[in-house]
Amino acid sequence: MHDVQSRWQNILDSISSSARKAGRSPDEIELMAVSKTHPYASISSLFACGQMMFGENRVQEAEQKFPVDRPRGMDLHLIGHLQSNKAKKAVSLFDAIDSVDSLKLAQKLESLLVKPLPILLEYKTAVNDSAKSGFETPDELFSALEQISSFRHLTVKGLMTIGPLGAGEKETRNAFALLCKTAQMARLRFPHLDFSTLSMGMSQDYGWAIEEGSTRIRIGSALFGAREYV
Ligand SMILES: *Cc1c(COP(=O)(O)O)cnc(C)c1O
Repeated sequence: MHDVQSRWQNILDSISSSARKAGRSPDEIELMAVSKTHPYASISSLFACGQMMFGENRVQEAEQKFPVDRPRGMDLHLIGHLQSNKAKKAVSLFDAIDSVDSLKLAQKLESLLVKPLPILLEYKTAVNDSAKSGFETPDELFSALEQISSFRHLTVKGLMTIGPLGAGEKETRNAFALLCKTAQMARLRFPHLDFSTLSMGMSQDYGWAIEEGSTRIRIGSALFGAREYV
């Protein structure tokens, strides 16, 4: 078996054990393979095993790497910050955008769309990390949602966050618990919208994320090996 395939199997096993530990069903947790910086050959060998969902953080890289006609069922998500000038390309390339981090971006996307596009709203849960994008307070998130909820094409599916990088267990779990709590508040406030997806947890912290309620983990290096850039 190829390296990436055996790592994939190990991660599936470890999702199951984290889920069981938390009293959850492993079926509640989707695995996204974050393929940034890795070649299409690795992506297709995972796809052949049954891995459907892939995440890329740069529009240009994804455009160059994936074939124009992707295999049926391959589900490609954008998980990185999207600049307005690349929004048009992004809506034609991705099946979903999991990193909508401002109302302005949401408006731009809506104006370009002619069919539904699933999105996640990115929420900043790590306190001391000013470089990261995302909505920063519940008020900011909810006032954006007031408008987004009237959009015809953008389809809210939930929230996404990046945990505090390199932090310890307590701080990391707190960040994930905050995303859960924020989604719960959003459900009460916008009962007609869907907040079922909580995208949180990466190679270093996905076990904690699953225990804190993650429904989608985003795994790069633990699947494909180390990267040269982030
Ligand atoms: C790179 C990246 C990941 C995966 O990170 P790993 O630590 O390699 O698992 C997940 N989410 C986002 C937004 C990323 O940019």
